[in-house]
Amino acid sequence: MVNFTYDELLDRVYKSLPELSEEKSDFKIPNVDSIIIGNKTIIKNAYQIADIARRPIEFLAKFLTKEFGTPVVVKDQTLEINSKIQKEVLQEKINVWFQYYVICKECHKPDTRIEEISRGYIVIVCDACGARYSVKGF
Ligand SMILES: [Zn+2]
Repeated sequence: MVNFTYDELLDRVYKSLPELSEEKSDFKIPNVDSIIIGNKTIIKNAYQIADIARRPIEFLAKFLTKEFGTPVVVKDQTLEINSKIQKEVLQEKINVWFQYYVICKECHKPDTRIEEISRGYIVIVCDACGARYSVKGF
């Protein structure tokens, strides 16, 4: 098992972006559909995003809670963020989430699952190429 630091991962994320779009043209990170209501932001298609990622919506909620430093709660099939967040900023976070926790770092396919979540790290297994690696948790 190979461990990567946050910086190394970030480095890989950015380096792998152009490659990804060429190699895996049939997979596209979904666009965020969000709306700001009062002081809150609703991700209207959060359930669909989580479904495409094959992750529980709570896993995405937890990540965004950490990233924004404000509560993100599951409401019906949406996520409600207790803050005003522009769509572009949200999309950036969703892209990072996919790159770190969904798309395989070896074959760049999204056919991964989470094998283990421990304090501090998450073990990801790829069903497409068999890669198994850990990333920093949140
Ligand atoms: Zn893979």
